[in-house]
This record gives sequence, C-alpha cells and structure tokens, in this order.
Amino acid sequence: MTRPGPEAPDEASWDKAVAALTGPDEVVLACHVSPDGDALGSMLALAHALLRRGSRVLASFGEPFDVPASLRGLPGVDLLVRPDRVPAAPALLATFDTGSVDRLGGLADRVRRAGEVLVVDHHASNTGFGTVHLVDPAAPATAVLVDELVRRLGVPLDADIAACLYAGLVTDTGSFRFAGTTPATHQLAARLLATGFRHDLLARELFDTHPFGWLPMAGAVLARARLEPAEVGGLGLVWTETRTADLAARGLGLDQAESLVDLVRTAQEAEVAAVLKELPQGGWAVSVRSKGRVNVGAACTALGGGGHRFAAGFTSHAGLEETVAMLRAALAGAPRPAVGDA
Ligand code: AMP
Ligand code: MN
Ligand code: MN
Repeated sequence: MTRPGPEAPDEASWDKAVAALTGPDEVVLACHVSPDGDALGSMLALAHALLRRGSRVLASFGEPFDVPASLRGLPGVDLLVRPDRVPAAPALLATFDTGSVDRLGGLADRVRRAGEVLVVDHHASNTGFGTVHLVDPAAPATAVLVDELVRRLGVPLDADIAACLYAGLVTDTGSFRFAGTTPATHQLAARLLATGFRHDLLARELFDTHPFGWLPMAGAVLARARLEPAEVGGLGLVWTETRTADLAARGLGLDQAESLVDLVRTAQEAEVAAVLKELPQGGWAVSVRSKGRVNVGAACTALGGGGHRFAAGFTSHAGLEETVAMLRAALAGAPRPAVGDA
C-alpha cells in the first residue's frame, strides 16, 4: 500500500547532506526532548563520525537537560552541552529523530535562525522543517539513516559509533521484535556487532537495569491498571498512570516511568495500551502502544502529539479522567491499518 508522507531520501538529498556536513567548521546537532535511545544514539553516532573527520561538534537537546539513566553509558555522552550553550544562529543545525520543530523544545528557535537545517528522521509525520531532509518512514530507526550517512561521509564504523547506532536500533525495534524489523535490520546489527562493542552490557543498561525502588513503583503502578474491553471499538484498552509521588517516594526520575508501557501492553485482552505520566509542572505525558490493528500515531496526532503507527504519544494539560476520555474518543475514530500491514 502507498503511504502518505515522505518518501525515502533520493541520491540528491544524500549528496546535499554530505555537502552540508562538509562545509562549516562547527556543526550543531540536536535531538528531541526527553531523548530515547534512537534520538541520543543517532545524534552521538554522527557526532563521533564528524569528530573523526576533524569537525567541531556541539550536541545538545532541550530542557530538561537530563540524560536518562539508561543512556548514560553511551559513548560520547560527555560530549553533550547544555542547550544554553548552543549558538543562537548556527551555520548548520542537524536534527535527529525529531518529527516537528516543537519536539526540539527550547532549541526550536535555532531552526529559524540556522543557515542550513539537516533533518534526519523516520517519522511518517515529519513536517519537513529543514533545508535538507533524510527522512525515511520505512526505516525502523533514525539510526539506520545515520549509518548510511556515516558511510557516505567516508568514516569507517568503530566501536563507539556502532554502540550508539545499536542503541537506536535495538530501542526502536523493541529488540528486533517489532514489525518494522527486516533482514536489512539484522544485517546492520551484524555489521555493528562486528566492531566488538559490548552489546550485552549496553542492552542491560538500556533495558534491564533499575534502582531497587523501581520494583515497588512498578508494582504499585501496574496494580492499578484498568482494563476497558469495550473501548477502541471493542478491541480493548488497558491503561494506568504514574503520579509524581510514585516516583518521588522512591527517589526516581521521570525517565524511570518510560519502560512501564512495555509491561502494560502485554495485557492480552487489550489492543491498545497507554501509560499517563504525571509531569512535575502539571499535565500528563501519555505513551500509547498498539499491537498492529489501530493506528495510534493518528490518534495521538489528533490530540496534538505524534509518533509512529504503533508507538505514539501526546502531552495533555487536562486532568487524568479528561485525558483518558480524550484518548478513548481519539482511539474510537483512529484508522485501522489492514491486517498484516507492517
Ligand atoms: P514514547 O511513548 O515517549 O516512547 O513515545 C513514542 C513515540 O511517540 C515517539 O517515537 C515519539 O515519536 C512520539 N511522541 C511521544 N510523545 C510525543 C509528543 N508529545 N509529541 C509528538 N510525538 C510524541
Ligand atoms: Mn524517539
Ligand atoms: Mn526513532
């Protein structure tokens, strides 16, 4: 089936991207707020490649400038600079895993003032806010596009670049379980592993490490999950919420709530899973997942957020019940991809 939205990058776009990265002395890199493994991994992988070529690189993301605990072991995290150190008008700004300008948070204004804006992304909803676009909605991770860019820049993969790209690949494919995983995904993983980085340690940090307090927090949050079989046109919704107090009581940051949706979505009786995360400043960051029969990206876009067809999110400034009611309504009208359409 033909998909709306951007096509895979053509040769001219790749050439323009390489030319843009070859010009300026200093390159500014930015990824989306509350970065995940794909956003940070893709950005740091290109940072390493540009440093190898002798460029000066500034890499950052919008406030809150906290690197999630699970990503602190990525090689090059020490290269990150606070967003207030990013020049007001960079000659070249490259963005990663960022579907729209607002997802850059406090760095959004740099897009308007930059000379060139290179957009590297895989969101079908990408708004095309750059001057050069490497956007491929068929790519399972932004890291796949960065791998190709690094190759075209003539930089051989090394263990640092590979670890960063692997973090993006393994995060966005759900450890190679999601439908977007192809033979080419595994071939890329094989090339990355061949550089010799410790993928076992990286995966443990990314997915299998929490402070002890995470266990009772997850227990409490999962214990109040609600199953609503009649929602989503009878396909079922399961949801729960994390309160600031759930996290604060155990000394946990908001990043410790990110993986809960992966537990909630295992409920067999529900097609769609959601976790509403109370924000310290008020409101809710909502993570929504589908098993493949409902386009939750469309539902979240309708609610002012965005994402992919089967993994999406939005921010709500309404109360808990009202936010869930908005989600129920958006899901009831959400498109249903044809079965088997990955
Ligand atoms: P998350 O649930 O935070 O892991 O996000 C899943 C996907 O939804 C990400 O890949 C983002 O593209 C997208 N997403 C999450 N929150 C938002 C938001 N507030 N606005 C736009 N896209 C979002
Ligand atoms: Mn992301
Ligand atoms: Mn991504």
